Amino acid sequence: MTRNIRPLVAGNWKMNGLKADLAIAVEVAKGYDTALKAAVDLAVCPPATLLYTTTAALIGSRIATGGQDCSSNAGGAFTGEVSAAMLADSGAHFAIVGHSERRTLHSETNAIVKAKAQAARAALLVPIICVGETRDEREAGKALASVKKQLRGSVPEDSTAASLVIAYEPVWAIGTGLTPTAADVAEMHEAIRTELGRLLGKGAAAGVRLLYGGSVKPSNAAELMNVAHVDGALVGGASLKAEDFLAIARAC
Ligand code: PGA
Repeated sequence: MTRNIRPLVAGNWKMNGLKADLAIAVEVAKGYDTALKAAVDLAVCPPATLLYTTTAALIGSRIATGGQDCSSNAGGAFTGEVSAAMLADSGAHFAIVGHSERRTLHSETNAIVKAKAQAARAALLVPIICVGETRDEREAGKALASVKKQLRGSVPEDSTAASLVIAYEPVWAIGTGLTPTAADVAEMHEAIRTELGRLLGKGAAAGVRLLYGGSVKPSNAAELMNVAHVDGALVGGASLKAEDFLAIARAC
């Protein structure tokens, strides 16, 4: 944790969730009690088809919603794409951009991710920009260099602490049950904060929320969330079970 930064735990449902699964969000809201509300912000990022209904189901809960991606374009002839303004119109507060599944499966470059982050901000959304090294990069000792390069290429230079969240998600840790050691997470998050300082200025960088993501679950959340400069979590698989998601939030 970073002192003075309010942690955020965001659930990335990925391509999971039909109408009946709104029950997960409703159950999370029921468990978001006064003590948790005092300690941590929560967000749920359902598929775009459920964004409006999830936001509606969460009214009054103080749980935010977010999209999992957005177009870099404002509108027009882009079949299948969802604009940041559409996410905002559906009640979203956040937009995840640059998730490794987008970078890998949809060949999204740093420049594309940056354009998406800028589009999100133009629609008054807060982008959650994902960065993370591959297994090969980690094994070659290039993890820090790879993540710094992603930051330099993906983060809009005029970002402020309030208009940016970074999620460090090692690609090899996503959905695999593997996690880096606390020492590796500490080294990476400190390096991210330092690099953001170079890009945005120290003042802004000091307030940016740095989430860890990749196989976060109730059994490892406390250890990961206690690492310096870890200001919350981006949770995939475990966010589909309200009980697990709440347990991770309590670990903050
Ligand atoms: P996971 O996914 O928690 O299932 O590893 C994290 C993510 O991809 O954001």
